[in-house]
Amino acid sequence: MTITAVRWLLRIMIIGFFLFSFNHSMPPFSRHPIPILVYHLLGTYPGHGEKALYVSPKNFEAQMNYLKQHGFTPLTFEDWGKASLVKKPIFITFDDGYKDNTKMWAIFNKVKSNEFEPKATIFVISGDIGKHNHLNQTDIQSMAKSPFFSIQSHTVTHPNLARSKDLDYELGKSKQVIQNLTGKPVVAIAYPYGLFNAKVIRKASHYYNYGLTTLPGFYHKLWIPDENYLLPRIYVKYTTTINQFAHLVTPGS
Ligand SMILES: [Zn+2]
Repeated sequence: MTITAVRWLLRIMIIGFFLFSFNHSMPPFSRHPIPILVYHLLGTYPGHGEKALYVSPKNFEAQMNYLKQHGFTPLTFEDWGKASLVKKPIFITFDDGYKDNTKMWAIFNKVKSNEFEPKATIFVISGDIGKHNHLNQTDIQSMAKSPFFSIQSHTVTHPNLARSKDLDYELGKSKQVIQNLTGKPVVAIAYPYGLFNAKVIRKASHYYNYGLTTLPGFYHKLWIPDENYLLPRIYVKYTTTINQFAHLVTPGS
């Protein structure tokens, strides 16, 4: 073996050692991908409108039962730090703050047990509170008081933030309105239509700790700046069967 070959071999061994130790010292966050589910309307599809925005109460209940039977721990974003400590963390999110989301009360009451505490994050459009088909102030206040729900922001007017002229209004005002209503911290924003750019992320990081996209897939800790403002989500559709759901929430399946 030449001197050069020995040097290269040593280098490879040193790099290998560091990669091995780095991998083994990483917190569990990086090793266990976390599903963040996204839903919109909780109701039977009425035959018009976009079907994929609905989940039927029956399917949703079956999906919650699946999570219960398979040892998942639902979390909300205030408890992000607990994700590395609990068994099979999962985030359940609903966008747009539709009135029918109140049906979750009954479903969560039905499926809850000592071992399984269902929780969901509802991203409300602050300018739509009390409008037709949307949650009103009383709904939001009572949901925020319950251990089942966390009310977070989905902007004031649901614009494409990448084109919005007034990010401080969309991001700051919605946070303020929701916080005033619930008396609880608003720490997360879901970007309308999942759209964002570098400026949106910069502004979001000024007001929030977490930003949710609609990039598909599981959350993996990537050790990159701004990754908490690029959280991916897994879309659950009206037609998603319980077998498909099992695949959606199971990494590597
Ligand atoms: Zn939306």
